[in-house]
Formats: sequence, structure tokens, C-alpha cells
Amino acid sequence: MPTIKRKPEWLRIKKREGQNMGYVNDLLKKFSLNTVCEAANCPNRVECYSKKTATFMILGKECSRNCRFCNVTHKKLEPLDPKEPENVAKATVDLGLKHVVITSVTRDDLPDGGASHFAETIKAIRRIKKDIIIEVLIPDLLGDIDALKIVVDAKPEILNHNIETVPRLYPDVRPMAIYQRSLDVLKNVKVLDPTVLTKSGIMVGLGEKEDEVIEVFKDLRQVDCDFLTVGQYLQPSEKHYQLKEYVTPETFEMYKEEATKLGFKFVASSPLVRSSYKAADMFASK
Ligand code: SF4
Ligand code: SF4
Repeated sequence: MPTIKRKPEWLRIKKREGQNMGYVNDLLKKFSLNTVCEAANCPNRVECYSKKTATFMILGKECSRNCRFCNVTHKKLEPLDPKEPENVAKATVDLGLKHVVITSVTRDDLPDGGASHFAETIKAIRRIKKDIIIEVLIPDLLGDIDALKIVVDAKPEILNHNIETVPRLYPDVRPMAIYQRSLDVLKNVKVLDPTVLTKSGIMVGLGEKEDEVIEVFKDLRQVDCDFLTVGQYLQPSEKHYQLKEYVTPETFEMYKEEATKLGFKFVASSPLVRSSYKAADMFASK
């Protein structure tokens, strides 16, 4: 296999100081909030923070799962911060967001997987900013439909659950997840409330084949998933799942065309796309 250490040109982001970087970092500190932007070492931070955009990560910093591509840590699970819903709401207002994205670690140790905390966060934001678009990126909640209902009943505009990779790679890449269970999360959102838009995302470069990726797109459309993101996997460290390939921009374009033909309302497919990248643009184009 050729060496893949050196990033291709299309993934090299020029180092630049972004406007608002300090402002966003200070605000996150002030409200003791975590972001997936930092936890995942996202390459788009300068761009997103410059636009005063960040994705809040609730339910703590430590995850109860062990996905091998993920940079989040798995040490000691922390008790939930009861002030977190209010603090996310205040930070949303301070940042002047019109579209907020909230994600979390997975908390299989909690009786409802953290569903009530998600619902409290949605409600706290809505209390102080009625006209905001709220997007939640949730874990699979162990397939518990009652827990899912708690989140759906809080009425986020968009509910995202990432499928992450093709089913063949689940045992290696997401050993504690189940492909069909993730599809069922998206399916059940529409059963519980067909007005909630659903979204999912897949990373490429993990050793999947093109036809396997397109099969995943078909499975997502089968459960009426509205929005899709496709982005390049970047290996966080030597210890993480080994990157197999830098997928070319042409292949990302082909994925976009194929997915669009299948009927997604919007597809974002390019090397630096992440679940929350330009989320507001995606919603606006629906
Ligand atoms: Fe944060 Fe998402 Fe932007 Fe990355 S793409 S910096 S995770 S908001
Ligand atoms: Fe990372 Fe989510 Fe997997 Fe936890 S469940 S290890 S946060 S990808």
C-alpha cells in the first residue's frame, strides 16, 4: 500500500488566524462548554469560528463507546452538568447563532442515554430564542424508542444520526454500534414525527468500496433520510483506525451526484465536509 502520511494538496489548509477565534474560545470557557470542534480536532475551526459557529458537545467529555476513528476520550464518565442546557442556550445567544448544532458523546451508562438532557437543552434554547433552527446530532440511544421520543418531542428542526461507515467495517470501526440500529434511529424519527428533518453522514477513506458507499446511500433513502454529508476520514493519531486512502475530489463529486439522484434534499460531499459543516446553508437550501 502506498504511503498515506502526506496529505494531498486538496486537504492542506493554509494556516491563518481567524477572526473571532479568541472570542469563541473565551465564551466556551466562560460557560464551561465543550465543542466537538475541539474534541475532534476539526480542520474547519478557523473558518467556522470566524463565522461564530461551533458545535456544542453535551453530556460530558468522556464517551462510553470506543469507535476506533474517534478522538474523544473514554476515561472516567462524568456526572451530567445540570447547568449545561442553560449555558448552551446563553452561549447560543451570545454568539448570535441563527442555527445551532448540538451533539454529544454516547452515554450508555445513563438510563435514557442522555435523551432528557438533550430535550432540556433544546427547550432552554427555545425559551430564550424562539426563531432559532436547532439541529441535534444524537447517539443511537441503544435503539430505545422511548428515549428517542423524548428528544423528538422537544421538536428540533433537524435530527442527525451518523451512519459513519459501511456495514462491513462496523466490527472494526464502530465495534459497539450496529448498522441496522443506526438506520432504525432515523426511521423511527419519521415514525414519531414526520415533520422533523433527518440527516446522516459517512466518512470515506476507511477501506470501503464505492459500491458499498452507494448501498449505504440507498439504505438511508429507504428510511427517508433528508440530508447527507460525506467527508474524508482523517486519522487522529497512530493509535486510531488506520487511514486507507485519500479519496479524490472527483470521487466526492461522483458520490454527490449519485446521492442527489437518489433523492436526498441536500448533499454535502467533499474532503473537508463534517456533519456540522455549513449546517445552516444545508437547512436553508431545503
Ligand atoms: Fe465545529 Fe462542525 Fe465547524 Fe468542525 S465543521 S469546526 S465540528 S462546527
Ligand atoms: Fe466518538 Fe461518538 Fe464513537 Fe463516542 S460514540 S467514540 S463520541 S464517535
